[in-house]
Amino acid sequence: MTATGPSDDPAVRGVETVRIRGRHVVAYDAVRAGHVVVEGGEVVFRGDRILHAGGPYDGRVDREIDARTQLVIPGLVDAHALMDVGVHLLLWDRERDPGYRPRSFVEGSERAFTPERTRDGAEAMLSMLVRSGVTTFCGVNAMVFKRWHDEPWESELYADVANGLGLRAYLSHHFRASVPIVDDATATTLVDERRGFAGLERNVAFVQRAQRGDFGPRIHGLLFPYTQDTVTPDLLRATRAAADALGVGWRMHFAQSVAEVEGTLARHGRTPVEHLDDLGVLGRDVMLTHCLHGRGHAGGNGLSDDELAILARSGTNVGHTPWIYLWGGRVLDAFGRYRRAGINVAIGTDTYPGDMIQEMRMASLMGKVAERSPTAVTAADVFDAATLGGARFLGREDIGRLAPGAKADIVLVREDTATFAPTLDPIRSLVYYASIRDVSTVFVDGRPIMEDGVIPGVDEVELSGRMGALVVDVADLLVAWDARGRDLDARFGPSYPSVQKVSTIDDVP
Ligand SMILES: [Zn+2]
Repeated sequence: MTATGPSDDPAVRGVETVRIRGRHVVAYDAVRAGHVVVEGGEVVFRGDRILHAGGPYDGRVDREIDARTQLVIPGLVDAHALMDVGVHLLLWDRERDPGYRPRSFVEGSERAFTPERTRDGAEAMLSMLVRSGVTTFCGVNAMVFKRWHDEPWESELYADVANGLGLRAYLSHHFRASVPIVDDATATTLVDERRGFAGLERNVAFVQRAQRGDFGPRIHGLLFPYTQDTVTPDLLRATRAAADALGVGWRMHFAQSVAEVEGTLARHGRTPVEHLDDLGVLGRDVMLTHCLHGRGHAGGNGLSDDELAILARSGTNVGHTPWIYLWGGRVLDAFGRYRRAGINVAIGTDTYPGDMIQEMRMASLMGKVAERSPTAVTAADVFDAATLGGARFLGREDIGRLAPGAKADIVLVREDTATFAPTLDPIRSLVYYASIRDVSTVFVDGRPIMEDGVIPGVDEVELSGRMGALVVDVADLLVAWDARGRDLDARFGPSYPSVQKVSTIDDVP
């Protein structure tokens, strides 16, 4: 990919006033404090800011975009976007594997992937986000191939790829104080709090560079202690203090398994939510992604009402990533309950594909299944989560909505396709029927980063080839690491037998 993104220089691209005429415009209504739909609506922007979103605009404009067959929505805010091609692509139809990393890797210095390979994965994942209408994302990468924290060059590389595509990004240097290993009879994890603190220090340094503008105006920093069960109380308290000092938020993977809850109960006598509450580290600037398990409640194993009350009282945000749960046969139990408890829920793409339309669809359907009710989670609920929900965690009122003064992060979705089925309601059509291919044009800061399905500098076919090679690398590495010595077929066997010659009935002995 050679994309460098559209220019930020007004002299280069000209600060013109642009009007988009849509078939439907999803505008933000300040009095209702929520989205409304304006049929035949218009959005007008100048430079990076929206001047008008609503009915017909009577001011002067320099240029007009005719989107009268399209739905005009705010750019989606992805609260938990996987930036690398992780292992999940290989794990469909497989039992969860209890980890991958040998002790020798953690204690050695060899790295799993080169910066070039990491870039291949990031370009594939982040360009997919653009295709699905994402304009802002909070990045996460898989720690399967890591030791205590990310490679020193990694966050900067992701910033570069995001900049190349023109996306708005919130990035971190992930860190932890313990690393699970698989091939040691004496230990299941290696623990070293010092290295966790070293990772936090690097994360802080990255945030400070982002705040200085080193990575450009759209790249921001967040803190990211990796998971609740791989960090220590002191490291979490230090993260909280650093977040306060920097004025940024922090995130983690949280309450992902029953084992995590049991481990936390054994160590602290408290569930993960209660434990973080005890430490005083929760707050409006905190995003806990997953929140699948807690003390349980009638009918399921989600967080208890008391735990939900803790999150609501502290203003803590929940990240929901339904597609990856479904892969493992799991559900969040339940999105609707969490929202009714007054918790801000945002949506993220925690695996491949980074398709926010699909995530919205799964979030709604999973929420209905969890409560056995067609009204439990509506299209509007998940669209709110995918726009206003993520923006609220980031403390921003200028993204995730189309309103005067907001950023010109705007997405056009074709309504005149076979996949965008008419439902009398464009939001239901988008959430329940639309395909990623219906997203035609994406603006960030008023700059088109995809036009009519084309992302400048991204050759989809060429990128797909590089991704295919990367997946083979991932598989080879996992086979080389396999503690039980399984080969590729035993580890990641195909759906059907892979053969050179197809038998006929005459071959029956
Ligand atoms: Zn996760």
